[in-house]
Amino acid sequence: MLRFAPSPTGDMHIGNLRAAIFNYILAKQRGERFLIRIEDTDFTRNIEGKDKEILQILTLFGLLWDDLVYQSANFPYHRQLAQKLIDEGKAFYCYCSKDFLESKKQEAIEAKRAFRYDDSWAEIEKDSGKPPVVRLRKSTEPITYHDSIKGELHFAPNELDSFVIMREDGVPTYNFACACDDMLYDISAIVRGEDHTSNTPKQIMVHRALGYEREIEYAHLPIILGESGKKMSKRDSASSVAWLLEQGFLPSAICNYLIGMGNHTPCEIFTLQDALEWFKLESLAKSPVRFDIARLRFLNHAHLERLGDRDLALLLEREDESVGALARIYLEEASTLNELREKVERIFAKKDIKTLYEGQDFSKECEILVRALKQIAPNAPLKYEEFKAQVQESSGLKGKGFFKALRILLTGASHGPDLAILYPLLRPYLQMVAEIVD
Ligand code: GLU
Repeated sequence: MLRFAPSPTGDMHIGNLRAAIFNYILAKQRGERFLIRIEDTDFTRNIEGKDKEILQILTLFGLLWDDLVYQSANFPYHRQLAQKLIDEGKAFYCYCSKDFLESKKQEAIEAKRAFRYDDSWAEIEKDSGKPPVVRLRKSTEPITYHDSIKGELHFAPNELDSFVIMREDGVPTYNFACACDDMLYDISAIVRGEDHTSNTPKQIMVHRALGYEREIEYAHLPIILGESGKKMSKRDSASSVAWLLEQGFLPSAICNYLIGMGNHTPCEIFTLQDALEWFKLESLAKSPVRFDIARLRFLNHAHLERLGDRDLALLLEREDESVGALARIYLEEASTLNELREKVERIFAKKDIKTLYEGQDFSKECEILVRALKQIAPNAPLKYEEFKAQVQESSGLKGKGFFKALRILLTGASHGPDLAILYPLLRPYLQMVAEIVD
């Protein structure tokens, strides 16, 4: 089984989505189940509704899960396993107060050595009456594991001290709950962000202490840098999947972008389904990858072009397939759904002819043309050339004034795709599109 384990503590970051995509792909490639585990153990940081938002995003991207679990439902198992470790002497109660540990940290800083918890401190403050935490006894052997992206990773015993597995309130810590659940659900491989590289040896320590022998495959994804070259933080709006969707990027394009980032792929434009055929973790670059919105725009454009007219219309919330065909023409100057929507909506919106277009007033020409268009609209000719000749004749206008005013009335803009190409699709709406606002 593979899993994606989001915490419902904030917006879904593109790094999280990337991990979800890769775990999903591996599950499909191996014919294994895909589990979503909502890691809701940090009650102070959980945000109401974020779990549902994450599940909605996963659904939108087609990352459908076979099983769903809220980690807090497994607390009874975590407590049982912690008790087993205490009974076997592999874990112990620690009564150290925060102040005590802080003073020890200060001592380490002053002595210029790394702070490590010392097991002999566990019971110094036993009489304080405060409930103890539970710590897993440190390893006397080095911990090594193979990372599919980073290669062999080695952690010496002195880098890993006895760490907390159960807090004083009886709630398991992230590393303990995560390791227990990966064992309970028989997880075969874990793909997650690089920030978890140093958690992995702790989770392996938990497995060893519990006598769990399965070698889980690990892959830690290099961090995603913002356009400035610094780590992409929550403050970079492009790091939020919800924001990208709001901007009108298609899930298929975002998915294409995240799979292709720092990767060698057999083709440039592909779908999640295509990637199931060839994706390999080993071809991902080890070095951090930089987020490139221009590239995402390019891919989004390509994915919009691949859509049929009907799908384009639906995405623009229009019933009529011909609106999709119109939108397709506007793809020559739009890369996101929002840009496209803005252009198409302008066609159907009332035209404010008092607005200056490129600093010029075409209101007189527009007024004349509206009258001509209203007459012609019911029997407008099929060919643009004939239509143009008729409007010219009945309005008596010509040259720039004629063409600009015609374009403004038909499309709501003074620039855009060739009117001859737009005309057959605009023809059924002539009466409507020539509406003006005074
Ligand atoms: N809840 C952790 C996170 O969102 C999960 C990491 C993991 O996959 O183990 O970063």
